[in-house]
Amino acid sequence: MNTIDQLPALRDVIEKHDLRARKSLGQNFLLDLNLTSKIARQAGDLSQCDVLEIGPGPGGLTRGLLAQGARKVLAIEKDARCLPALAEIGAAYPGRLDVIEGDALEIDPLAYLTPPIRVASNLPYNVGTELLIRWLTPKQWPPYWQSLTLMFQREVAQRIVAEPGSKAYGRLAILAQWRCDARIVINLPPEAFSPPPKVSSAVVHLTALPEPRFPADFKTLERVVATAFNQRRKMLRASLKSAAPDIEDRLIAAGLKPTDRAEQIPLEGFCALAREIKKT
Ligand code: SAM
Repeated sequence: MNTIDQLPALRDVIEKHDLRARKSLGQNFLLDLNLTSKIARQAGDLSQCDVLEIGPGPGGLTRGLLAQGARKVLAIEKDARCLPALAEIGAAYPGRLDVIEGDALEIDPLAYLTPPIRVASNLPYNVGTELLIRWLTPKQWPPYWQSLTLMFQREVAQRIVAEPGSKAYGRLAILAQWRCDARIVINLPPEAFSPPPKVSSAVVHLTALPEPRFPADFKTLERVVATAFNQRRKMLRASLKSAAPDIEDRLIAAGLKPTDRAEQIPLEGFCALAREIKKT
């Protein structure tokens, strides 16, 4: 008997439903329910929230979220083989688990959710970054979600929370930190998963800020950051040549040194530059 619910151990669930992991679906399952409960706790108080979970698989994190008191979990799973196992969880938590079979990249979950909403997922690695970018770039801010608690490969997690001056600092750090507080809350070795992936993983918790940390036009900021980091070893006056004909003047007006490189520029500096470039 496990310590979080009356349901069978995940190993037995996987065996019963013949859920052999498929690499093509990024399937690395968490089997330790104490660990999935710990991840669920990082998502905060869920008792008044609907929780969106992408890729529940055999349901380890789903059970953690429900055991931690989530008002409702909406789980989107591409692999139909997992549905019977998820139905058993739904039966143990009547009215609190909705499952949609399908591709999370194709489904708009909003129609199925009632605010306040939090997102918590052990993401499939092949679509994790794309989903994160979508959550960070909605048409309107603040977004529909209050927080994201997400498992990534550690290298991706480090890119999300990276500080200027580090190798990992780039577009993802700026995108995430412009409108969120982001921190790594749990580090996990490959052995935490079955089968173990080749790399370590980490859970990142992102909380949506009510408004961006510094003012800037999103499209301009995106373009400037992408262009600057495209040639991250070059000085800004060279890497950003295409951004504006008088780029040196604009860099100086934004308080930046034209001889600096992208990875030395803090978020505030990129926002100041985006504002200068947006001026005609
Ligand atoms: N949450 C489970 C856990 O922690 O053990 C499974 C995590 S596993 C890393 C990723 C899960 O995402 C798998 O169950 C996989 O079938 C599912 N998946 C993969 N691509 C998906 C997609 N595009 N949309 C929804 N689910 C997907």
